[in-house]
This record gives sequence, C-alpha cells and structure tokens, in this order.
Amino acid sequence: QGLLAGKVAVVTGAASGIGAGIALAFAREGADLAVVDLCGEADAKPVLDELAAMGATARFFRTDVGDAEAVSELAGAVTSSLGPVDVLVNNAGVFTQALVENMTVDEWDFVMGVNLRGTFLCTRAFLGGMLERGDGRIINIASQLGQIGGAEVAHYSASKAGVIGFTKALAREVSSRGVLVNAIAPGPINTPLLDSETEEWRSAKLAELPIGRFGEVSEVTPTAVLLASAGGSYYVGQTLGPNGGDVML
Ligand code: NAD
Repeated sequence: QGLLAGKVAVVTGAASGIGAGIALAFAREGADLAVVDLCGEADAKPVLDELAAMGATARFFRTDVGDAEAVSELAGAVTSSLGPVDVLVNNAGVFTQALVENMTVDEWDFVMGVNLRGTFLCTRAFLGGMLERGDGRIINIASQLGQIGGAEVAHYSASKAGVIGFTKALAREVSSRGVLVNAIAPGPINTPLLDSETEEWRSAKLAELPIGRFGEVSEVTPTAVLLASAGGSYYVGQTLGPNGGDVML
C-alpha cells in the first residue's frame, strides 16, 4: 500500500532535517529505507525510532558520501540487506559561510566534496543496478542558491549549481533507459542547517520572501514523493523549487 509500496529507497544525510523528512515520507508511502549518514547510529536514533514505530523496514548505514571507497561498499551493503535500489535521494549536504577573498582551499574542498562529489559518487554507485533493471529514480537535493548564488556562500552555490548541471547531464544520458533524474532546489527551510545564520540574515531574508516565512521540511517532502513515485514519470532533468517564491523561473 502507498505510492512507494515495494520500493527500496536510499536517502543520504537522512539523520536530520530534509533527509529525515524524506525518509519518513517515503516510509509512509510503503518504501523500505536505507538511512545513510556520516553521523553515528546514536545521532540517527530519533529517525530510526520513528521509522520503527511506523513499522517500516529501515537500515542505518554510516557512510561519508564523499569517500569513494566507502560509497562503493555502501552500494553492496544496501543491496544485500534490502535488495535492488529503486530510488536514490542525494540529500547529504554541508553549508559554511565565508567571503571568497577569505575562503580557504580546505573550506572550498569540504563543501564541494560532500555536496557535489558526494552526489556523483552515490549516483555512480547505484546507477549501474538501476540501468541493469531499466528502472530507477534519482533525486538530487540542490538549493535555490545554486540558481541565484548567495553572498558568502560561493562554494555552496557553486556546488549546488553543479548538482543542477549534473542532474541535467545525467538525465540526458539515462532517461531513455528507464532512470529518471531530477533535482529539488529548496528555499530557506527550518532545519539545523540554518542554525548558523545570523538574526540579521534572517530578517533580511524574511523581508524579501514573497510568502513571508521560512519553509518546513514537510513542505519539501511531497516534491520528493512525487519525483519518486508513478506520478513523476514525465519529469526529466527538472529542478523543482519549493521556495516560498524566493526564486521564480
Ligand atoms: P541538516 O544539516 O539538517 O542535515 C544534513 C545531514 O547530512 C546531516 O544529518 C549530516 O550528518 C549529513 N551529512 C553531512 N555530511 C555528510 C557526509 N559527508 N556523508 C553523509 N552524510 C552527511 O541539513 P538540511 O537542511 O536537512 O539539508 C539537507 C539538504 O538540503 C542539503 O543538501 C542542503 O544543502 C539542502 N538544502 C537545505 C536548505 C535549508 O534551508 N535547510 C535549503 C536548500 C537546500
């Protein structure tokens, strides 16, 4: 029962925020879940407990999405534990702030390494199985900052613009072989990721947001369910934007 009954979904960065919300929303629609995160199982416990309480089949995999070897191992471990993967959500992401003139190479590499390299590595790891079966969905969590850029987040903006470009390119490679690839570019959503933002930034952002408030995780997850389910069968290489009107394309 549910829009994703019988499906196996991998969600990276699923211990917190948007990833946790997507994992729970997918489970509610009947999917079995691979909850992937860099954090320890103890930090993932709240979402794992919630999944267990729903009666969902869910396994936790501690993996750094930027680590090529670990990600290859992840693909084998998920498949032997849950079966072939139908849906991959590349959600794991990090956010730091610095002006380009002060940005260190390490800071640049850190953000690109998780957000962009991690998306490539996880995609590559699960794509082969999807292509073999001629069926699969890949959903990349970008950001509206990848569309419009943000001051003090050039590395983050570049990584997310990269995710959007990667989404379009991959969609052209694999759609006719049954694998549909799309991105979601949320606006400001209330999650721990926004904790680092200053009050000054918050009030300036609120003043320019057409909807006049930040979004909730539950306002992003329905887009992921759509893209993962039968109703998403004609979306190819798109970037959908639950963003409160901050960006209108
Ligand atoms: P969050 O910080 O609540 O969650 C991110 C999760 O990713 C954490 O559980 C963290 O442990 C995990 N993670 C970090 N590095 C990892 C790695 N190397 N390997 C595996 N897991 C790793 O943040 P969130 O707001 O839920 O963000 C989720 C995604 O949504 C990110 O890609 C983020 O860039 C994107 N996003 C968020 C917003 C927002 O306003 N919150 C807006 C646009 C896009």
